[in-house]
Amino acid sequence: MMDFERRGVMLVIASPSGAGKSSISRALFAQDPNIRLSVSVTTRARRTDEIDGTHYHFIDVPAFEKMREAGDLLEWAEVHGNYYGTPGSKVEERLSTGKDILFDIDYQGTLQLYENCREDMVTVFILPPSIAELRARLERRAQDSSGTIEKRLRNARKEMEHYSEYDYVLVNEDLEQSVQMVRSILAAARLQRGRQTRLDGFVEDLKVQIDALA
Ligand code: GDP
Ligand code: ADP
Ligand code: 5GP
Repeated sequence: MMDFERRGVMLVIASPSGAGKSSISRALFAQDPNIRLSVSVTTRARRTDEIDGTHYHFIDVPAFEKMREAGDLLEWAEVHGNYYGTPGSKVEERLSTGKDILFDIDYQGTLQLYENCREDMVTVFILPPSIAELRARLERRAQDSSGTIEKRLRNARKEMEHYSEYDYVLVNEDLEQSVQMVRSILAAARLQRGRQTRLDGFVEDLKVQIDALA
């Protein structure tokens, strides 16, 4: 397919903890080199399977506050008792060169991004099939203490109340199917007229070709 010059997509994925955002994102990155994770800064402790600079930039509270005060964060929020924020530095550069960015951020962050970036954003909310399954996934992931898991389950209620602020909603039952759905959403977003920057010239050129037929 012809690929028109376009602005990148800000793809936002949110869900209660354990619903499958990271799993879906990971599969998406493996299949599509044009989209990358916006690596957040966080004050949360690193999990054993996480790489500093790849999954998050792990920083302490004073460093976080310094970035926030300096205006280096596009948005920030306190989630499950830790600070999380999105560094703004590379976002515009990627979007203006047609590269897509995935944001794994909570609803508070999504609402902040809506204020200045709505036209660049496509937002997806992921629901778990049931709370029993959500608990099972958090336990299977085995990266959080039981106290942390209980806190995340209780916070799921509040997070889920915000599903109506998102463009798309899907239930992550089968992982492969969910990845396919998110890929479809991204494919459609890339074709939105407002993102394509060279359409006028292309259509003008087609018209010239018709005129040349005469
Ligand atoms: P998991 O999503 O349960 O694996 O847990 P994480 O520790 O990765 O994320 C915790 C929460 O912080 C989630 O609700 C994320 O969506 C949210 N979060 C992660 N990064 C950001 C960010 O840069 N900004 C905001 N506002 N929220 C974030
Ligand atoms: P989140 O990033 O939303 O907190 P994760 O992607 O870390 O969630 O998923 C939590 C756990 O559930 C992981 O152990 C993951 O392997 C598992 N998981 C994710 N999606 C599915 C699914 N569709 N079916 C079964 N297990 C899943
Ligand atoms: P976790 O601690 O499980 O990695 O993430 C917990 C929650 O924080 C998730 O819902 C995740 O999406 C959210 N989160 C991670 N990074 C950010 C961020 O930079 N900003 C906001 N607002 N939320 C984030």
